[in-house]
Amino acid sequence: MELSIVCPIYNEEESIPHLYAALIKSLDKLNKSYEIILVDDGSRDRSFDELKKLQEKDPRVKVIKFRRNFGQTAAMSAGFDYAQGDIIISMDSDLQNDPEDFAKLIDKMNEGYDVVSGWRKDRKDKTVSRKIPSKIANKLISKLTGVHLHDYGCSLKAYKSNVIKNVYLYGEMHRFIPAICSMIGAKIVEIPVKHHPRKFGVSKYGISRTIRVVLDLITVRFLQSYMTRPIQIFGKLGLYSIFMGLIFFVLTLYMKFGGTMNITGNPFFVISIFSWLAGLQLIVTGLLAEIQTRVYYEGQKKPIYVIDEIVSVGSFVDQEGEVVCQTP
Ligand code: UDP
Ligand code: MG
Repeated sequence: MELSIVCPIYNEEESIPHLYAALIKSLDKLNKSYEIILVDDGSRDRSFDELKKLQEKDPRVKVIKFRRNFGQTAAMSAGFDYAQGDIIISMDSDLQNDPEDFAKLIDKMNEGYDVVSGWRKDRKDKTVSRKIPSKIANKLISKLTGVHLHDYGCSLKAYKSNVIKNVYLYGEMHRFIPAICSMIGAKIVEIPVKHHPRKFGVSKYGISRTIRVVLDLITVRFLQSYMTRPIQIFGKLGLYSIFMGLIFFVLTLYMKFGGTMNITGNPFFVISIFSWLAGLQLIVTGLLAEIQTRVYYEGQKKPIYVIDEIVSVGSFVDQEGEVVCQTP
């Protein structure tokens, strides 16, 4: 299988037949073997019936139905898990993305990139509630994650299978897929893609997602740098805090013996005690996080690295004794 298309679907009954037609039209031009994975994220309208109809007439269509609404990230994640193609392309199912862009994405990928991200240069959404907050969020994400794109929210993206299958998504992290992919060393690039206004149904998000994006950003930023060494950040903050406490304590003593102010009633003394306690808490939190990290990696036998490929003569065996590379 050369290509897998993954579309999350939540209450998009009217769009589905048009989506299928647009996908087939564009995919058939590519001359590649492909599958279309449509993930019904607990729709409450007739979406699933529409999907079943498509699946019955076209075996290249595969439908995954969730028991309830788990969110767009979960739906995309399921699609990635079941995809068999060497290249996986995700896109929205509301016809805002355009399958005609697939060829461009694949061409760019063949230049040697692992992730090709779409950029809705001429975005057709509401200005105040969508475009402005998203502009600010994009700037912030770019600055903090160090992966410089214009548009993180665009679902139309192409991934090398071995990259996206090594990425674990939680909550609403689909917006941070480029940043998460860069954590495993993926080469990422962005190209402008088409964007259309929504024709059917309604958007599933409003302004309220801005705050959620900010919280996710903090998580991603933290994981990016400190996933395998949390004590480095907590410990550093803790030591700063203890050092600050020390300065205030010395100041308190100086004021007492200089005769200007008693220790009792001196606010600097309270600050120094507070800083020491905060510092201690931070260091202990860091140590707990170190244990968590070990539980995470060792409990699941997850390596702390991701291999791109192995080059060796003869057989090469991994830590479980399985042959991972056999060159004659
Ligand atoms: N979606 C989903 N589960 C959800 C919310 C959205 O699968 O809980 C799908 C939705 O059907 C669409 C895509 O995610 O295909 C993007 O959603 P939407 O178009 O509402 O977002 P917007 O384009 O307005 O940012
Ligand atoms: Mg949309």
